[in-house]
Amino acid sequence: MKIVMCASEMVPFAKTGGLADVVGALPLALEDLKQEIIVIIPKYKTINTQQFTITSIGEDVDVAKIGKNIKVYLIKSSKYFDRDALYGTKTGDYPDNLERFSFFCKRALTLLKEINFKPDIIHCHDWQTALVPVYLKSIYKNDNFYSKLKTIITVHNLGYQGLFSKDEFPKLGLDWSYFNIDGLEFYDKVNLLKGGLMFADLINTVSPTYAKEIQTKEFGCGLEGVLLKRKDSLFGLLNGIDYSIWDPAKDKFILKKYSLSSIKDKYVNKENLKKECGLAKKDVPLFGIVGRLAEQKGLDILAEIIDKICHLELQFVILGTGDLKYEKLLEEMAKKYPKVISYHIKFDDILAHKIYASSDIFVMPSKYEPCGLGQLISFKYGTIPLVFKTGGLADTVSSDNGFIFDEYSSKALLAIIKKALTKYRNKKTWSSLVKKAMELDFSWESAAEKYLELYTKVI
Ligand code: ADP
Repeated sequence: MKIVMCASEMVPFAKTGGLADVVGALPLALEDLKQEIIVIIPKYKTINTQQFTITSIGEDVDVAKIGKNIKVYLIKSSKYFDRDALYGTKTGDYPDNLERFSFFCKRALTLLKEINFKPDIIHCHDWQTALVPVYLKSIYKNDNFYSKLKTIITVHNLGYQGLFSKDEFPKLGLDWSYFNIDGLEFYDKVNLLKGGLMFADLINTVSPTYAKEIQTKEFGCGLEGVLLKRKDSLFGLLNGIDYSIWDPAKDKFILKKYSLSSIKDKYVNKENLKKECGLAKKDVPLFGIVGRLAEQKGLDILAEIIDKICHLELQFVILGTGDLKYEKLLEEMAKKYPKVISYHIKFDDILAHKIYASSDIFVMPSKYEPCGLGQLISFKYGTIPLVFKTGGLADTVSSDNGFIFDEYSSKALLAIIKKALTKYRNKKTWSSLVKKAMELDFSWESAAEKYLELYTKVI
């Protein structure tokens, strides 16, 4: 099968979150299944070009290679992509994001013609590439080159839809007839993701539970009606983890590599990170957090009890950026309790690896979570996830392999943290929990097979 993966971020080139992990790993797993695949992403200024062999194939397109022979096409535009960030700065999204990503979607489609790559399927991800199915069924609908091409759109987070003012609609190059309830209109605004959901041949999201949840008012972010309407074309496939990147036995970023048989070395990493972070308490569990500091990630309920938590027999290492109010609160707490909390306000891949390896417990009390990668990575590192029962967290964590609470409140979060502390004190129970976690397998292999089935279904 010939597949095009079209996305706005991808490991190892550009990453702001889990989307990049998925787009970096799925093509490799599909290539292992003998599929022919190319990837198209924007060429951001932030891509460290020294790290890769990149060749130019024209004025505005470069190519890099990953895996055995996967070409990654990088669309250049000094106007749209030569910026310090992918989507925006601390003060907000870039105001021309609609133009930037509609340009990208169109250019991705014209590129296919130029390189004469006629795929069976284009796999799009999130609002940034949601216009691809729209353009195929509008401005390109009579073009023979694209006539047999099918599309699938993966929703990685329904909370981000690419919403813009109606005034911007003409910039899309679409007829106004597409600005209606069966098209891109959403309460008198332009909604790019909605366009993708309406026009893609198939829709999927990244866990079975989230696929069900988004058809309800509580989780549908206003798009539940659209999703309900398309429920026969809506699937939920759990993400995998790329174990060539996330495996303590091979991890080049951690002080001491380890596996289940050399689990003692996990604790060498722990002591080292504690030292680096100035965390001096002995014999207490280390709780780790790596992620966006947003309400979605449960920061609201964590914020309510963080002061209380600091008086418990534990320590915290936190890595993340996000909402200013949570960044400030954590900075304050780290100042107030320097021996208990170490807070790192940045995006730092190496430190993330160290935290996964060194922590005993990974805290991820997300209010909603499409799939979540943090808990899957944690399992592999023998770090026990503590999560709220929702979406992909509910599909992967149970009381058998982690700590899970089912009432979204600070009280329930505090209670489960205390429960984890009690469990931690019993070394035998703890070791068996760690063993169970490390033996779980969330590799991309089986997830990629399921994607292939989905592609086959739509073709
Ligand atoms: P999201 O909703 O942000 O995509 P996921 O759990 O699906 O959440 O994936 C988050 C990914 O981004 C993980 O690989 C995580 O380790 C990484 N990540 C998040 N914040 C940071 C950070 N500040 N520094 C390094 N990596 C981070």
